[in-house]
Amino acid sequence: MAQCTHLDSIREVHPHSRGCEECLKTGDTWVHLRLCLTCGHVGCCDSSKNQHATKHFHATRHPIMKSFEPGEDWGWCYVDQLMLDLA
Ligand SMILES: [Zn+2]
Ligand SMILES: [Zn+2]
Ligand SMILES: [Zn+2]
Repeated sequence: MAQCTHLDSIREVHPHSRGCEECLKTGDTWVHLRLCLTCGHVGCCDSSKNQHATKHFHATRHPIMKSFEPGEDWGWCYVDQLMLDLA
């Protein structure tokens, strides 16, 4: 079974914002929010039209994000394309 080898990039982050940082600037809307566990960037999910969480990964190479939705404890490694249980 594949394992994520990027868990050491997880930091104790504080979310930068309560919504997608880029969408808040442009006045856009989003569907769900994702939190970067390396720097605390908040971006919108791939169901959102701007997909800022994925764009953040491509811009920064920060590999792991976590759902920023209340009650959701799953994460995702963009490099390994693996779902992570962060509960
Ligand atoms: Zn990984
Ligand atoms: Zn966004
Ligand atoms: Zn980041």
